[in-house]
Amino acid sequence: MAKYVYDFAEGNKDLKDLLGGKGANLAEMTNLGLPVPAGFTITTEACQRFLAKGSHVDGLGDEIDRHLAGLEAAMGRKLGDPADPLLVSVRSGAKFSMPGMMETVLNVGLNDESVAGLSRQAGGNDRFAWDSYRRLIQMFGKTVCDVPGDEFEDALHKAKETKGVRDDVQLDADDLKSLVSAYKKVFSKHVGHDFPQDPRQQLDLAIEAVFRSWNADRAVLYRRQERIPADLGTAVNVVAMVFGNLGPDSGTGVAFTRDPATGESGIYGDYLQNAQGEDVVAGIRNTLPLADLEKIDKKSYDELLQIMATLEGHYHDLCDIEFTIERGKLWMLQTRVGKRTAAAAFTIAAQLVEEGMIDLDEAVTRVSGAQLAQLMFPRFDLSGDPTSLTRGVGASPGAAYGSVVFTSARAVELAAAGEKVILVRRETNPDDLPGMIAAQGILTARGGKTSHAAVVARGMGKTCVCGADQVEVGRDRFTVHGQVVHEGDVISIDGTTGRVYLGEVPVRPSEVVQYFEGDLDPALANEPLVAAVHQLMTHADQRARLRVRTNADTGPDAARARRFGAHGIGLCRTEHMFLGDRRELVERLILAHNKAERDDALAALRPLQRDDFLEIFREMNGLPVTVRLIDPPLHEFLPSLEELAVQVAVAKERGEESEEVERDERMLAAVRRMHESNPMLGLRGVRLGLVIPGLFAMQVRAIAEAAVALAAEGGRPRPEIMVPLVGAVQELETVRAEAEKIIAEVAGDSGVEVLIGTMIEVPRAALTAGQIAEAAEFFSFGTNDLTQMAWGFSRDDVEGAFFWRYLELGIFGISPFESIDRDGVGRLVRIAGEEGRAARPDLKLGVCGEHGGDPESVHFFHEVGLDYVSCSPFRVPIARLEAGRAAIESAGSDHR
Ligand code: PEP
Ligand code: MG
Repeated sequence: MAKYVYDFAEGNKDLKDLLGGKGANLAEMTNLGLPVPAGFTITTEACQRFLAKGSHVDGLGDEIDRHLAGLEAAMGRKLGDPADPLLVSVRSGAKFSMPGMMETVLNVGLNDESVAGLSRQAGGNDRFAWDSYRRLIQMFGKTVCDVPGDEFEDALHKAKETKGVRDDVQLDADDLKSLVSAYKKVFSKHVGHDFPQDPRQQLDLAIEAVFRSWNADRAVLYRRQERIPADLGTAVNVVAMVFGNLGPDSGTGVAFTRDPATGESGIYGDYLQNAQGEDVVAGIRNTLPLADLEKIDKKSYDELLQIMATLEGHYHDLCDIEFTIERGKLWMLQTRVGKRTAAAAFTIAAQLVEEGMIDLDEAVTRVSGAQLAQLMFPRFDLSGDPTSLTRGVGASPGAAYGSVVFTSARAVELAAAGEKVILVRRETNPDDLPGMIAAQGILTARGGKTSHAAVVARGMGKTCVCGADQVEVGRDRFTVHGQVVHEGDVISIDGTTGRVYLGEVPVRPSEVVQYFEGDLDPALANEPLVAAVHQLMTHADQRARLRVRTNADTGPDAARARRFGAHGIGLCRTEHMFLGDRRELVERLILAHNKAERDDALAALRPLQRDDFLEIFREMNGLPVTVRLIDPPLHEFLPSLEELAVQVAVAKERGEESEEVERDERMLAAVRRMHESNPMLGLRGVRLGLVIPGLFAMQVRAIAEAAVALAAEGGRPRPEIMVPLVGAVQELETVRAEAEKIIAEVAGDSGVEVLIGTMIEVPRAALTAGQIAEAAEFFSFGTNDLTQMAWGFSRDDVEGAFFWRYLELGIFGISPFESIDRDGVGRLVRIAGEEGRAARPDLKLGVCGEHGGDPESVHFFHEVGLDYVSCSPFRVPIARLEAGRAAIESAGSDHR
């Protein structure tokens, strides 16, 4: 039978799948001999079972009984004992951290009788006991029984009003006792029965509520945003309560072993005296810097520093820690490898290498393409001396501006209308998640780097400034130093420095981009971040097997991509060269009555094309350049049928006669002739080349001429001609035969060699790859079209139309146009690669669909043995890093 419950002493940090991150690390700390309160973890499997059945899980109750007995024995107290009660917390903890998204219930075990026992335990502290009891009813009511939280807040507010005080702490034991009565009334009014007095029943209901909170709306939304699979479930940790709110010798805090924003070693964290842990994370009260604990309680402080050193030495990484001090005794409530900013991820990885804790391979796996992308964001240009409003804590880096909004709903509404917004809140709570996602950035008046807003924003890579405590937040305005900022006014926030400016501040590129561009200010060359990026990218390049090329169809793009480390061009889309003022030539080509007119138009296009290619070949001198022959759905070049029909009808109605009207009429006839119901499945790619004589031939000639011209300049052109949308080898053979003739004619004895290959973007091509490889020197997977045609999803329509529902239902966790669908489209790639190489062992394989720059997909392309990925210039560094990581990770798994 499955084992659903593990004592902390039974687990370890590698059991995150089963015990969740929190449970696995509590177990690890227990086994390291650190002061962790006794407890046990109910597995994610139990949660999955519970959610699948919608009711209790067979055998779980008995297991909980046994482990509870062990917990009681360890603590020397019994749950529900009126004289000396054991209280427990019931906390969620999934495999991946989902801060504040699921539920926690504290003080489980208290009831009308044991509240007196708790008071005795606390040295006769009645106030504390009644405060704990009212917190239990409030949390239990809200979390387990869906009582609206506001009702409890109102009752608390009323209690303070009656007494004429502002702060909770000014309520005494009798006030809190009355408040408990009021809370109980709220509870029974909403739930239909009294607050349960049986502690064991409280425990069971709290555990089930935590299970259910896996599917709470905000948790579902967060998972979707963070790409966390929907079926993992959460573990539940049942832990003996320790109290940070027993007086000035108690408190609670959060600590980092290094600065999570910069990676610098030191003492980082927040401490709150005489408070429970939730108060720190919620950012409700402003905290003290952790270093102040030294003055308050030196013994606990020294012990904490020692534990931090132990944990960092053990995990070989930045750890974050939650702790509580109960009357001078330090307890560890949580640790995990800490979330960090993208900049800190790079600098910490490099520092750990320097300190000999990890090697370079490990360091490269500790950073990601997504983090690198964040570092490539622009930053504010302050040379215009913008009006500084105030300064808070730079909690999540980036530069963002937008109109001020004060509610999550308004943020969502305006963002949907295309407006950039900054969400301004006193503090955020998990219900603000939709607004945080919609906003460009978040500004809060309260809370530190570990507040909800900060943690969530960092996780999303969203700019956030927290704890700007000069800001007075109202309903439709905020005030700072007497200045009023209304809803709709524009502000700019800098998540690195914490500065807030009035108006829109212009942005400038990041130093990481400057480093890649090769125009870094020399003064910044030794800056830790730039040095770390340089070191890790260099190592990633050394380890990578996959090459990274770029998708570019202009000289400047090609040049930039080369500076970013591209090893050539994997896709030059030539149809982009037919737009703008060349459109007219294309129209002439399409409308040509006879061969002479068509040849004329083609002859006019050829020198233009030759110059296009020469510019690109020059920029990529010595590196391969894959030029794809034209592949537009024809409608992209033609005027809209409806508009043109109306125009012609109106002209006729008015009896207008002119050359222009005549031209419009001819165009209308052509548009009608070529009108397609499904242009994406129509006359495009190789089909167009076979139907319009001379079109591909013109392009092939221009490519060959450009290559010969570069060779004549002393350059080394490496052109590759790629035929789009091939589904049958005969299509490719026909194009190839003509192209070879032209190349031989143009290249003569210039030494120029041109490879000819094809895109694999039609499922039939993937399934007949063995045949197609006979006529192709390379394949490049066009995973945009391959996804479209494998799923039957129109790539222009579906993402906006209904993907939200598919994502909601978990049919896929991410759009298959964004990240490769390994099982379906990926399988076609795998089959085509294998069968293509079986027919032609030296067949070069690459990918040039959008997936070529997606970190997850890069790992897949590495696994299936492609030679290169090709992506837009800005994603080249990201793909390089991921290619290195993929090689290191697969080497690691080969060793295992
Ligand atoms: C593709 O289909 O993946 C591709 C690269 O071609 P395009 O996006 O131009 O259709
Ligand atoms: Mg395509």
